[in-house]
Amino acid sequence: MSDTIKGLIASHPDAAQAIGAPDREWLSYGGLRSLADDTRAALRAAGVGAADRVAIVLPNGPEMATAFVTVAQAATTAPLNPAYREDEFAFYLEDLKAKAIILAEGYDGPALAAAKRFGLTVLRLSFDPAAPAGSFTLSAEGDTGAAAPEGAPGPDDVALILHTSGTTSRPKIVPLLQSNVAASAHNIAASLALTPQDRCMNVMPLFHIHGLVAAVISSLGAGGQVWCAPGFDALKFFGWLRDSDPTWYTAVPTMHQAILARAGRNAKIIEGARLRFLRSSSASLPGPVMTKLAETFGAPVIEGYGMTEAAHQMCSNPLPPRAQKPGAVGVPAGPEVRVADEVAPTLLPGDAIGEVVISGPNVTPGYEGNPDANAKSFFEAEGKRWFRTGDQGSFDEEGYLTLTGRLKEIINRGGEKVSPLEVDGVLSDHPAVAQALTFALPHAKLGEEIAAAIVLREGAEASEREIRDFAAERLADFKVPRKVVILEEIPKGATGKLQRIGLAEKLGLVEK
Ligand code: ATP
Ligand code: MG
Repeated sequence: MSDTIKGLIASHPDAAQAIGAPDREWLSYGGLRSLADDTRAALRAAGVGAADRVAIVLPNGPEMATAFVTVAQAATTAPLNPAYREDEFAFYLEDLKAKAIILAEGYDGPALAAAKRFGLTVLRLSFDPAAPAGSFTLSAEGDTGAAAPEGAPGPDDVALILHTSGTTSRPKIVPLLQSNVAASAHNIAASLALTPQDRCMNVMPLFHIHGLVAAVISSLGAGGQVWCAPGFDALKFFGWLRDSDPTWYTAVPTMHQAILARAGRNAKIIEGARLRFLRSSSASLPGPVMTKLAETFGAPVIEGYGMTEAAHQMCSNPLPPRAQKPGAVGVPAGPEVRVADEVAPTLLPGDAIGEVVISGPNVTPGYEGNPDANAKSFFEAEGKRWFRTGDQGSFDEEGYLTLTGRLKEIINRGGEKVSPLEVDGVLSDHPAVAQALTFALPHAKLGEEIAAAIVLREGAEASEREIRDFAAERLADFKVPRKVVILEEIPKGATGKLQRIGLAEKLGLVEK
């Protein structure tokens, strides 16, 4: 079992296909390995060493996939959501101590402006559409000074840095080691029985753990193929399905629902597809959607349970002949998964309801530079180190985990996690706002939508619309409250504290 990203792809035949994309030739494993060599040489020449951090801000697609896979064999990667505003980029770039940033040739947006604030080395990525999918060249802008020493990252070096959405405090840095990512790729490939004959169609964003590890790295680790769509688009999905002819794809429940809504008129394509299974993760898949998907595609739906701190997968519904249980997130699929007392914390017996905790080689060694968060998030028991997920659940007699609630205040908007605290902070900057409390509003398609309760300063005036527009200028679109309610006072919970959980019900915003 390999414990680095380089090791994962080292032994696949040179000629085998690795990366594909619409209207592009396939990039082979040999091509991917020489791209990794070229990328490492370009980074070293630009002064980027094995321990340096490289932010990657690119549109979704094959180059984003290969930039991640190849840079991760030479340095630490930090993919960022291209939808961020300048201040959001500035926060992440500074916080993760990026040394360089990879941007598409010709890109002149907010990530560049933010990178310039800190004098980062800018590496421009360009590609030839006639060349195989995902091949690219990097060129450094300006004088980058001395070259960095050679040297490759080892299993204990950080391959990937992502931030949590920062629900209870500022976003936390999650470092994932080469060995964490490799272990997770092995876990996912094992639970899905991936082989070189498998082809994944990727529609997931490649700045979150789900797409990066479940779609890209686990496929490549198995010697299979990843066909990279330019992101999710319900209107183009079936055309891509026909053209790429995948054996599986992975998506969040909101995407599956949008796909189902268009399945009827695309029955011919579905009939011709050779899907072995579909995978869902990152948010709760409603049981009826799982059943309908399986019926429509004539393939099992494998719901997984993932988390950034676990390099994605913790549990997965098993493949047939074992059952896929609607509403359950499956059986432990890699790490050990237990439930623990939410207060103590101590491990509880099998069928108890408690906080889900995990232990295994895929789990992050701990938040970076945040001993308080680590003290709260990790504990020792039975000779192992356990990470507390902040999710609540219980196991049934067959060992399937069902999530029963969430102990953290994070808002899960169709798989995209949003920190209510961050939105509060922006809303509170509005001159008319005295108090802001962001909360989850149940939503039929997204699971949860962002809402905010506002109390205005005495004598101040502002419309709900104005407050939303103010937030929209400062936050990436997915974080902007779709509903703003202006109140005299925000109702408090039983303990007299402001409570986000349950606020939608309390304000009568939930239909019964
Ligand atoms: P990504 O950010 O790439 O979407 P992710 O969802 O695996 O990946 P996080 O953003 O860290 O990772 O979110 C983890 C949280 O998402 C979990 O703690 C849990 O609350 C929720 N979650 C993940 N999978 C499921 C699922 N199948 N059912 C319900 N909730 C889920
Ligand atoms: Mg997420």
